[in-house]
Amino acid sequence: MVVERAGRMEAYSADVVVVSCGAINSAALLLRSANDKHPRGLANSSDIVGRHYMGHTNSVMMAISKCPNPTIFQKTLGINDFYFGSQDFEYPMGHISFVGKLDAITLKAGAPAIAPNFTLELMAKHSLDFWLTSEDLPDPNNRVTIGRDGKIVLTYTPNNLEAHERLQAKLKHAMKQTNCAMHGHECHQGLFGRNLYVGQRIPLAGVAHQNGTIRFGHDPKTSVLDPNCKAHDLDNLYVVDGSFFPSSAAVNPALTIMANALRVGDHLMKRLGVSETTNDRNQQRDLAVTR
Ligand SMILES: Cc1cc2nc3c(=O)[nH]c(=O)nc-3n(C[C@H](O)[C@H](O)[C@H](O)COP(=O)(O)OP(=O)(O)OC[C@H]3O[C@@H](n4cnc5c(N)ncnc54)[C@H](O)[C@@H]3O)c2cc1C
Repeated sequence: MVVERAGRMEAYSADVVVVSCGAINSAALLLRSANDKHPRGLANSSDIVGRHYMGHTNSVMMAISKCPNPTIFQKTLGINDFYFGSQDFEYPMGHISFVGKLDAITLKAGAPAIAPNFTLELMAKHSLDFWLTSEDLPDPNNRVTIGRDGKIVLTYTPNNLEAHERLQAKLKHAMKQTNCAMHGHECHQGLFGRNLYVGQRIPLAGVAHQNGTIRFGHDPKTSVLDPNCKAHDLDNLYVVDGSFFPSSAAVNPALTIMANALRVGDHLMKRLGVSETTNDRNQQRDLAVTR
């Protein structure tokens, strides 16, 4: 492995290498590592590296109420009632949660330049701020490539948008059902005309939930990694980050990425001959508790 550090080139070698740069940068690293033996990029005999980029269809929706919302730590709600569909739509729509409390500063970023600060402050004081996540599907043409100038290019055509629009409609409908002790249905209803919904889809540059570009699977023709996240093409290369996802589901990705990293860590410990893995220890602890 050759790296540039403080303007100097340095070379490193190891028996086992774990790449973990996040779904976009890990794919870019493998693509940039093309050589005579691996002309399409490292671990890329299948031409799958960089493909199937996903990042969820996310949006923030802000509902404004007559009642103020004094919450500081808002991320306490998760709604999966529509995750697998509903009576009027049989397909999965996604997940609704609160997002961290918006304030005047965050609102300013998306507001017209002439919007006065005190208006934004008042809006933030009276808002419930939702985060909506729907699954985007793995399309091989949505991908990370390296441009001629050596820079990363992200190509993405959104898909499965109807699910997200229906999820937004479900939230709007649910908000109209609320019954506030002070204002009854009017707390939200009168104020929830479409023009008062600040509903914004997160644009492509919002790559927070990037995943899927180095998918795992059993078949070396349709996946880059085997089920242990080891490259099909190489015996000593693992990729352990959000890129292994074969599908994105519709929930925040970090815990799945962490759980998989622990799983692969156990595999690596076994491979390297370390006797006791995290899994073994947890099983022993569980047994001790149940005895
Ligand atoms: C603002 C924000 C809010 C989020 N909120 C949530 C949330 O509430 N819940 C949730 O589940 N997820 C959330 N996420 C997503 C979550 O952070 C990611 O899904 C997760 O961190 C991805 O893990 P990873 O290991 O794939 O990559 P990362 O955590 O991105 O780690 C990749 C690391 O590799 C380094 N790196 C990149 N390129 C190179 C290179 N060439 N050489 C060396 N190092 C390199 C990076 O600096 C970074 O440290 C959020 C993300 C953002 C940006």
